[in-house]
Amino acid sequence: MKIKDLTNNELHLTYSVPFLIFLGLTYDCNYSCKHCYAKKNKNSQRRILEFNDFVELINSLEKIGSILINYSHGETLLYKNALEIFKLAKKKGFFQTLITNGSLINSTEQINNLHKSGINSILISLDSPTSEKHNKNRGSSKAFLKAVNCLDMLSCSTIPIKGIAHTLNNFNSILDIEKIIQIAIEKNLDYISLMSMRNKAEPKIKDIVNNSDYLLSLWDLILRYQKKILISTHEPLLIKLLENTNFETEKELLAFLDNNSCHAGESILSIDCYGDIRACNFVSKVYGNIFENDIFSIWDNIQTEYKNPKKSFSMDCLNCNVLQFCRGGCKHFFPTDHYCDIH
Ligand code: SF4
Ligand code: SF4
Repeated sequence: MKIKDLTNNELHLTYSVPFLIFLGLTYDCNYSCKHCYAKKNKNSQRRILEFNDFVELINSLEKIGSILINYSHGETLLYKNALEIFKLAKKKGFFQTLITNGSLINSTEQINNLHKSGINSILISLDSPTSEKHNKNRGSSKAFLKAVNCLDMLSCSTIPIKGIAHTLNNFNSILDIEKIIQIAIEKNLDYISLMSMRNKAEPKIKDIVNNSDYLLSLWDLILRYQKKILISTHEPLLIKLLENTNFETEKELLAFLDNNSCHAGESILSIDCYGDIRACNFVSKVYGNIFENDIFSIWDNIQTEYKNPKKSFSMDCLNCNVLQFCRGGCKHFFPTDHYCDIH
């Protein structure tokens, strides 16, 4: 089945509930990764959310219909009450994913305790299959060893979903990414998340994002390994590149579209440790703050803006036949950068 074969009833859904929350308990981190989008938002003068604020926030998230929390922004395990937050969200029934650099995890028991506290899925960040490149990008000579040790402990743990989060960057080849996939398979992991770097300070990454050959090689790699491990991308341009590709089943095609379309203003929200709410971690505009506005009105404002085609899409996008799936590409680059060269 191809994208153009989808009938109206099968078109990609437009949600109006922020199912997935990217929650930052802290902006603190013990590394200084070159691709980090979050450090520019850190401001030690600002009031951070205390435990009671998180209690209220999680109650509001339950009311608005959120069901998934991904802990992101800084290194979550540096937040002193992290376990208490996980337990609280567990009581409310949230499915919780911890994305961590792995440096603060020292034993399988500790991972099992995270699971008992409510974490359902852990992704360890791995920037490269070689220690030199990973350590250089993280600014720490021990980072690679700690991440790989953590993957070993993870594979022996009770956590239901275990994986690697890899940021596609300009210092790894496709062969390097294949080595990361092989590491994940060797360690019996379930999942790899591949997402290209969204960082305007590194203009070369835009060359990767817009490099059709690179993205198509990546797709070939995924097809080669898809029976051994689940690999997801989050790259809207793949939708245009693969619009004439035959997917074996409609389910596979819909999963591909869901993974790769932009969900800003549709089904995700980003909330940081100051209470600032964005449409996505990578969109700089702040739409409100939980100390000043209620989450329902902030979500309404975001949706109103993202449903306005003139505000969300370029003219090229408005004339593009995959717009309803791609949704105009990554809003991190819109409108100041020319995101898409392949329409
Ligand atoms: S022109 Fe816009 S909608 Fe079409 S593929 Fe490019 S970014 Fe996506
Ligand atoms: S702005 Fe859209 S495409 Fe870009 S990272 Fe956020 S959800 Fe993904």
